Amino acid sequence: MDMITAVRGFKDILPQETGKWRYIEETARNIFSDFGFREIRVPILEKTALFKRSIGELTDIVEKEMYTFLDRSDEYITLRPEATASIIRAYLEHSMYSADPVAKLFTIGPMFRRERPQKGRYRQFHQINVESIGLDDPRIDAEIILMLTQYLERIKIADVELQINSLGCTTCRPDYRKKLTLFLRGKENDLCEDCRRRISSNPLRILDCKRKNCIHAIENAPKTLDFVCPGCNEHFAKLQEFLNIFGIPFVINTRMVRGLDYYTKTTFEIVTESLGAQNAIAGGGRYDGLVRDLGGPDVPGTGFALGCERILSLVPFKDDDFLLSPDLFIAAIGDDAEKLSFILCNRLRLRGVKVETDYAGKSLKSQMKKSDKLKCRFTLMLGKKELMEKVAVLRDMQSGIQEHLTIDDFEDIIVKKLQERK
Ligand code: AMP
Repeated sequence: MDMITAVRGFKDILPQETGKWRYIEETARNIFSDFGFREIRVPILEKTALFKRSIGELTDIVEKEMYTFLDRSDEYITLRPEATASIIRAYLEHSMYSADPVAKLFTIGPMFRRERPQKGRYRQFHQINVESIGLDDPRIDAEIILMLTQYLERIKIADVELQINSLGCTTCRPDYRKKLTLFLRGKENDLCEDCRRRISSNPLRILDCKRKNCIHAIENAPKTLDFVCPGCNEHFAKLQEFLNIFGIPFVINTRMVRGLDYYTKTTFEIVTESLGAQNAIAGGGRYDGLVRDLGGPDVPGTGFALGCERILSLVPFKDDDFLLSPDLFIAAIGDDAEKLSFILCNRLRLRGVKVETDYAGKSLKSQMKKSDKLKCRFTLMLGKKELMEKVAVLRDMQSGIQEHLTIDDFEDIIVKKLQERK
């Protein structure tokens, strides 16, 4: 019969890989908690309207990449392409702002975008998302960037570049948009088809186009930074001052607009040269109008998302570095020994010892091989003779030293030995 494979762009994370995943997730949880962020878990499915309204109808994500379905109840629902919108929805739905508008939240989980799969780009991928809602202060932007760079340092990702930009606010952006549109009209014939369409719908996105001709055509396009109002200008200057206090190097990338419509003022990205075309590891920025646009009070916010698959392709660890080897292997020969092994194994597991055994009736030699392959610390050998004499041999798999132990005392002895080793 035909084998049914996974859907294109959807990947399994295999047992030998999950150690690394847990490590990057736990390190994030630890650092984020030092900075006062709390974990939230939001659904993977949301009403389509949530993403249309927050990300923007005329973005690539909403136009081309969402997995949207008509539910049996005749409502359109979407597999989340990002987490910010869901977190803000939860913030509003549970009135988290009523006692205090400030909420510092993070979530870790899968996102779905129907992009063309390639190295570093999947249709189901995972993000670590951080959102700091409630404060407009540039110290918050600096703080989350500090937390992000500290995280990357802790998981030993080097050679990255922090790029920052300011996109202005509702006061200054319309004027900039007008100037940019005017400039782009003059370059219409040099732009790709997508960008030509974007001139009237979403001109800022053109600054982000990766096509050579477009990059060339917009070389002298007006920059957001030349148009930002005094308030946005000061916000951006302070952000830079605070980054400097912590010695966080950055470059200003006036072309960085990011793919989602809700950004205001600060935007930032962490990029690396080591990933080829998909060079962004993390991205984020401020979204001061989003909470209001989603039907809530006028509360500002800022945040970022890190791509887990991309981080994992950069961390200098091997799958084996996270291998959780068993403490003990019980090699049993014969029915009675196997029965005792079954009892010992599970009693020790109940006491927190990692124990493996083999119920397939294999030879002692092949059981010893298996113990070696699993990198067990000790192997207990149990046979007919051992059962009769009530004494069994315990082998330290690293040193090869063997000792005789009374079977009745074995449980306590092994527990003590493992504690001493810790
Ligand atoms: P975004 O939500 O587009 O700002 O993306 C934030 C981060 O998620 C990026 O910097 C990437 O590391 C990661 N990312 C975005 N899209 C994908 C994808 N299709 N596959 C893998 N990682 C992705």
